[in-house]
Amino acid sequence: MNYDIIIIGAGPGGIFAAYELMQKKPSLKVAVFEAGHMLSRRHCPIDGDKIKTCIGCKSCSIMSGFGGAGAFSDGKYNITNDFGGSLYEYIGRKRALDLMHYVDEINMSYGGDGCKLYSTAGTRFKTVCIQNDLHLLDASVRHLGTDINYVVLENLYAFLESKVDFFFDTPVETIEVIDGGYSVKCKGAIYSCEKCIVSVGRSGSKWMEKVCKELKIPTKSNRVDIGVRVELPASVFAHLTDELYESKIVYRTETYGDKVRTFCMNPKGAVVNENTNGIITVNGHSYEDPAKQTENTNFALLVAKHFSEPFKDSNGYGESIARLSNMLGGGVIVQRFGDLIRGRRSTPKRIEEAFITPTLQATPGDLSLVLPKRILDGIIEMIYALDKVAPGTANEDTLLYGVEVKFYNMEVEVNEKLESCYPGLYIIGDGSGITHSLSHASASGVHVARDITQ
Ligand SMILES: Cc1cc2nc3c(=O)[nH]c(=O)nc-3n(C[C@H](O)[C@H](O)[C@H](O)COP(=O)(O)OP(=O)(O)OC[C@H]3O[C@@H](n4cnc5c(N)ncnc54)[C@H](O)[C@@H]3O)c2cc1C
Repeated sequence: MNYDIIIIGAGPGGIFAAYELMQKKPSLKVAVFEAGHMLSRRHCPIDGDKIKTCIGCKSCSIMSGFGGAGAFSDGKYNITNDFGGSLYEYIGRKRALDLMHYVDEINMSYGGDGCKLYSTAGTRFKTVCIQNDLHLLDASVRHLGTDINYVVLENLYAFLESKVDFFFDTPVETIEVIDGGYSVKCKGAIYSCEKCIVSVGRSGSKWMEKVCKELKIPTKSNRVDIGVRVELPASVFAHLTDELYESKIVYRTETYGDKVRTFCMNPKGAVVNENTNGIITVNGHSYEDPAKQTENTNFALLVAKHFSEPFKDSNGYGESIARLSNMLGGGVIVQRFGDLIRGRRSTPKRIEEAFITPTLQATPGDLSLVLPKRILDGIIEMIYALDKVAPGTANEDTLLYGVEVKFYNMEVEVNEKLESCYPGLYIIGDGSGITHSLSHASASGVHVARDITQ
């Protein structure tokens, strides 16, 4: 065997698996294969000047490379079982929380020390929300910010660099079961290992599907979240964000009984493009450094869509809707809430005259031509509901960017060790469909490393 353990993917799942393996058993021979670049070479070419929109780089620096999809994220580590994945269903609630706290401690000791830990415990907003038919979910949130998150990754890489063999710009093509382990093929070479940890995240979802098909590993998939990113003056949500930083608020619509939730709140942040398999959607982030902060806060409003038999391609459904916005707007569409309610498109002039400056250059347009009625109705209802706890949310000039889609990887069948039906082949992080966040993905990496080294 070339290696004791091969890790595929250097996102939070892969990084924390490697970290824990080296802590528990430094003698192990470990390799990490990563499709994207090393951290220092990750640069998105969009500069807002010469390059304004996504040019479809071979390896997307936002989604791939050391640090994974989380590298330029807002670095919000949500320590909770209430959202961010269903890891607890496999390993138990207490263990999942313990591992998330453990990851948080490591982040603190690798450069995050001093970053604030926010908590919903004892907040009066829980009552205010429930009085308005809104539900605030419980969580502790460590906000690293995009800048500190990067420093933590640099430090983790410095720790791992000399202990683990990293292969960057090396997408793994196939995994094969061999006598006593596994072999992985990449760039015409074949490497063998006793145990293999697959942590390929969202960008590796299509590849993961292929591997599961080839190896006949059972999977299931039936969910996609679709919605918009809301951007408004930071003062509208300041009373919530100052105390909680991120508030996950859930609302059940009166019309359809669908659940709509706030997601990924970025106080004084910026709205950004996201490229998933060539489709441009929207996301957001913010910085800890006050010099980089904006006057706006942004967050997503997402409607969860679960499909029943016979339809199986929930991600395909989300992709089609996002493609429609790309077709009409050449990328992301932006619309004022006032224009949406009046049934008219936003124009460059209407956006320019608004009392808010957009942080993302998107095409002014009409989201009602893109989003299905049921989803749009849910979003509008939620905006009016939020207006009761954060007056100003339903203002004319509130900006809605679309489409924001939260794709869920198909869920791979694994046991409580996160091991597939093949002994020693572990599937972790967002690529397993079990986690959807930095904290859960990182915790899943520690979990398998401990299983391997115990
Ligand atoms: C813009 C943005 C902001 C976000 N903000 C937050 C946030 O604030 N808080 C939060 O909790 N979550 C956030 N997320 C989600 C979070 O980043 C992910 O949940 C997390 O990164 C998942 O970790 P992972 O290791 O499972 O996968 P990933 O981070 O996706 O890493 C997987 C890695 O595998 C590599 N890979 C894929 N296929 C192959 C292959 N065949 N061979 C080799 N390598 C491969 C990819 O290049 C990638 O680097 C954000 C995501 C984005 C895109």
